[in-house]
Amino acid sequence: MKKLIPIHIETLLPYQSAKRIGLFGQFLLNANESPYNYNIQMNLDNLNRYPDFQPKKLLKKYSNYLQIQKKNILITRGSDEAIDLLIRTFCVSKIDQIMFCPPTYDMYEVCAKIYNIEIIKIPTLKSFQLNTIQIVQHIKYVKLLYICNPNNPTGNLIDISDLLYLLKKVPSNCLVIIDEAYIEFSSKNSSIFLLKKYSNLIILRTLSKAFGLAGIRCGFLIASSIIVNILKKVLAPYPVPLPVSQIAENALSKKNFSLIFNNIKKILENRDFFISKISNFPYVKKVYPSNTNFILIKFKNSISVFQYLLKCGFVVRDQSHKKILKNCLRITIGTKKECLLLIKSLFDGYTNGII
Ligand SMILES: *Cc1c(COP(=O)(O)O)cnc(C)c1O
Repeated sequence: MKKLIPIHIETLLPYQSAKRIGLFGQFLLNANESPYNYNIQMNLDNLNRYPDFQPKKLLKKYSNYLQIQKKNILITRGSDEAIDLLIRTFCVSKIDQIMFCPPTYDMYEVCAKIYNIEIIKIPTLKSFQLNTIQIVQHIKYVKLLYICNPNNPTGNLIDISDLLYLLKKVPSNCLVIIDEAYIEFSSKNSSIFLLKKYSNLIILRTLSKAFGLAGIRCGFLIASSIIVNILKKVLAPYPVPLPVSQIAENALSKKNFSLIFNNIKKILENRDFFISKISNFPYVKKVYPSNTNFILIKFKNSISVFQYLLKCGFVVRDQSHKKILKNCLRITIGTKKECLLLIKSLFDGYTNGII
């Protein structure tokens, strides 16, 4: 059997999703999901038929939402599929490279490894901003440059001046992909407005985070129609299941928008409340500023906090194994009640000498 497996697959560490890590608890604050759910009605007629390759109504709704033409949008199975599709479409093993800037989202690396594509990592500066000089210096054979904005797991926005600098400096045959999975938590910082000027710019969006629909697996890639059409050659024939497009259309309807944007507002209020309560605790070394629905916190001893919270029913995300994130945990912002309980647990853990 061993002979069956290519070496790059045998040595592959798959993406360590919150679900795969498999920790259980009452309060799931480990996957940056929304704590709010909605009631969505579905029409299950027509399940005997294949769905549209790109469901028209959904395209129209998303195109209205972004004020971007339909020909510039590709619907994918979550933005994870878009990350993968880009590599499959544009990269040739042993010839092309991809680049990203750790600490960042792990899927860029996992996908590149699956296709045996060489990876260039340019670590961020201590501020978690991009090291633009190093990026430009090593860009020569890079086909895809992945930038996560706001960045996961650090929560910060990338300086727009750095993005502009890179768009000007990288060769036109290098695609700059800005992963905006969390952008709805700080909408005015989107790079969508740059699409007209830079035909090598690609933006990734998802319904998994701010829209609270991680369960349906629906993402969007936005780019020049030339790029979208090339990607359509490689995308699976029926990538969007009928129930998925129906739920997504529903979520993007006018009457749901106020609900969604109200939920975003609540999450941001909960976040700022949580930060204000926790910042001065003695076992917290640093609360990093966040433009997302999660916060990165440096503790005196993150392992003891992680284990203690797990016992209290809170599952959070350990980031302490990553370079420059020693003793850091990433905590998703849940409901106000969850924030209050979390603050209380941390406080009790400290007063009882556990953390
Ligand atoms: C969660 C996340 C994604 C994945 O989104 P899906 O649409 O659920 O596949 C992509 N990029 C980043 C940075 C994320 O945090």
